[in-house]
Amino acid sequence: MAVSRRRVLAAVAGGALMGVQAPWQPVPRAERAPSDAREGAAPVPAHVSRDEIVARYEGVEPSAWGMEVPGVITALPDDRPLLALTFDACGSTGGCGYDAGLIDFLRANRVPATLFVNARWIDANPDRFEELAGDPLFEIGNHGTAHRPLSVSGRSAYGIAGTRDAGEVYDEVEANAAKLTGLLGRRPRFFRSGTAHYDDVAARIAADLGQLLAGFTVNGDAGATLTSAQVRAEVAAAPSGAIVLGHMNHPGGGTADGIAAAVPSLLAAGHRFVRLSDLS
Ligand SMILES: [Zn+2]
Repeated sequence: MAVSRRRVLAAVAGGALMGVQAPWQPVPRAERAPSDAREGAAPVPAHVSRDEIVARYEGVEPSAWGMEVPGVITALPDDRPLLALTFDACGSTGGCGYDAGLIDFLRANRVPATLFVNARWIDANPDRFEELAGDPLFEIGNHGTAHRPLSVSGRSAYGIAGTRDAGEVYDEVEANAAKLTGLLGRRPRFFRSGTAHYDDVAARIAADLGQLLAGFTVNGDAGATLTSAQVRAEVAAAPSGAIVLGHMNHPGGGTADGIAAAVPSLLAAGHRFVRLSDLS
């Protein structure tokens, strides 16, 4: 827990130093407007144009790269025994599957989760998306337009080429944010890039667009490559305040069975599951 808290504070401090809005803007449940009750509104509306972003960041060189750059939230800002399960739907060839076993388990056990959905996954699964978006058990997050690492210099991660400049960062974040806004009737609050990699300048651009960057504390399925026993071991060891990263687009992997095996022990240990916007 102490480590988690330090990580959050470091992210907040780093954001302030970089001129980025503090990444976490909790809204007490009692103060939320009815329209915000399910997900919470994005803290900053994206009234910034592509041209403004390009001009604002022209010539600004990144100085950090990775999964924990300033502005990336890597744990919940809460001292209570809360856990946030997050599952990515990445899209593209081989990445447009739907893990019905995982979603069915979450529903059957009333385990809330935040689902990070890529634009291509939505296009491949329009009915599934509508069904998930309409289920109050789930919060929908933005997993990018083309699933690219978020960079202003074209850095890559896991062999996936990143965005090459500020304009492409804008496109990667904003095109799917706009798509989701149209589909959900409200702007998504959280963003996670493809591969969860960022440079610090790209992270600032995402903040300018009103997106909170959802990192993770526990890599629960290593890109849906782990066996169910490995997923169970990783997730069952999650500390209080952890954000757990998994995938909902690989039904043949070990994620669903591993999560199903880990959740009962986490509940028995007194943990409670929340969506990222829940702070009740
Ligand atoms: Zn992904």
